[in-house]
Amino acid sequence: MTTTIQIHDQTFEILIQKENIAKRTRLIGIQLNLDYEKRCPIFIGVLNGCFLFMADLLKEVTIPCEVAFVKVSSYQGTNSSGKIKETLGLPENLHNRDIIVVEDIVDTGFTLSYLLQAIQEQKPASVKVCSLLLKPEALKTPIEALEYVGFEIANEFVVGYGLDYDGLGRNLTDIYSVKTVLPALAEM
Ligand code: 5GP
Repeated sequence: MTTTIQIHDQTFEILIQKENIAKRTRLIGIQLNLDYEKRCPIFIGVLNGCFLFMADLLKEVTIPCEVAFVKVSSYQGTNSSGKIKETLGLPENLHNRDIIVVEDIVDTGFTLSYLLQAIQEQKPASVKVCSLLLKPEALKTPIEALEYVGFEIANEFVVGYGLDYDGLGRNLTDIYSVKTVLPALAEM
């Protein structure tokens, strides 16, 4: 296993190994199977970062369910302002349904609160959030629906297992954290 990697100009070191990601994902899947027994939830993955977690999580989910995706992006230069737009819209059949939003990481929480508001407009039966990672110190808005969290991590930039640094690193099977402070990311 490689403990240190280089992406672009930055060095990253291992933070969470793939075996631990798999174990935690299995446990969350078991919990979801219990919590949603005899229901048929719609899992909505938030692209792009969720793609590996969503795939692995859904393999652990044995109850009947539907799967959809949404893609959101921040307006350029306003990463921490909370100005978000949908670039791949939400499904339109959420009324009276149980919704589980699947995220790679919750940082400030702005993306999620935007999405949760948009989902609520369709009057679903329930909405919960499942995120692989959470940075509690970075959270700027409380997210009551955040029910399932894989790992709480420090307020540092991470890559791997779906998460990128400037386009690279999404295909790494482990999660790495940056060794040095990235000037461009320090303001995020
Ligand atoms: P939030 O709106 O919660 O601040 O940010 C959510 C999005 O920001 C995530 O879905 C992810 O795309 C990006 N993000 C936040 N923290 C990190 C991080 O440490 N690494 C990477 N690669 N992306 C992050």
